[in-house]
Amino acid sequence: MFLSVNFTLQKFIMQSKIEHITCLIIGSGPAGYTAAIYAARADLKPIMYTGLTPGGQLTETTEVDNFPGYPNGVTGPKLMDDLKAQAERFGTQVRFGLVTKADLLSKPKRIWVDETIELTADTVIISTGASAKWIGLENETRLRMNAGGVSACAVCDGFFFKGQDVAIVGAGDTAAEEATYLSKLCKKVYMIVRRGEMRASKAMQQRVLSTPNIEILWDSETVDILGKDAVEGAIVRNIKTGETKTLNVTGFFVAIGHTPNTGIFKGQLDMDEQGYLTIIPGSTKTKLDGVYAVGDCSDKTYRQAVTAAGSGCMGALDAERYLNSSGIH
Ligand code: NDP
Repeated sequence: MFLSVNFTLQKFIMQSKIEHITCLIIGSGPAGYTAAIYAARADLKPIMYTGLTPGGQLTETTEVDNFPGYPNGVTGPKLMDDLKAQAERFGTQVRFGLVTKADLLSKPKRIWVDETIELTADTVIISTGASAKWIGLENETRLRMNAGGVSACAVCDGFFFKGQDVAIVGAGDTAAEEATYLSKLCKKVYMIVRRGEMRASKAMQQRVLSTPNIEILWDSETVDILGKDAVEGAIVRNIKTGETKTLNVTGFFVAIGHTPNTGIFKGQLDMDEQGYLTIIPGSTKTKLDGVYAVGDCSDKTYRQAVTAAGSGCMGALDAERYLNSSGIH
């Protein structure tokens, strides 16, 4: 009898500790912070869990010259600090933590942070982003982390290599598109393709093949990237002949795909074969009421800070309208 009362009491104490949130934002990139700014101004009292990389992918880049409102450019970390400060100014609570589990089908939705903290939420805005895939070379990581000329975004960083020779790895639509983009800025673009054919659509392939300053290195892999503080070259090997050669490049782009950070929502939300969350076109709505997907986790086409920010704004407006129409807020 005593044991059972004690157990019930313990359960009550545990449950009474569960925090309820009107608007939970998962992820802290431009999409998440913009959602937070709008949600806070609409008095939804948003709480954001940042994930393990507060600020997201932009904290790993250097200059950002294409985000509107910064005529002289801004560094990725500074831009993210500004967005965070703006979200906090209106009352967003930003917390460090990784959402590790979600039950989005229950009402309210149930969320677990760092495997332990349980929360409930009326609305959830998913802005978990996507992570670029990398080849895995030691010098690739080092030069990428030190802003030494290794990048996964030609649109973001191509400008810094104007008039220079660069290399790009990959053979999908992104690599083809980025190689074409770089060819307009750079003197020469080497495209390193690991097979004897490209995965990119025929139209994109045609564009690459007909661009005179793109040289395709078929059946080739990158052995190493050279340079102490900045890229000074890349060693590539032909897989069929074993022949190696050094490319005199100052920029090295990797375009071998992205992985959307959506694994924890598998089985609850619709996603494509690569894991990008499916949203109702023209909105940020997923198939579940009160659950919205914004930014790169649901966008494999544009993947820009400003498009992510725009969809973050849409997510907050969708959440606000849902809360109003369902009488919750
Ligand atoms: P994909 O997965 O389509 O292509 C990745 C490419 O990288 C493949 O060619 C692959 O080679 C290569 N690759 C993978 N790992 C390595 C490695 N370790 N070393 C060297 N090469 C490697 O990714 P994308 O980002 O190109 O495209 C993702 C999706 O987005 C696709 O569905 C694409 O169609 C779409 N997209 C559409 C665009 C548009 O419509 N404008 C623009 C950009 C993307 P292999 O072929 O040998 O596997």
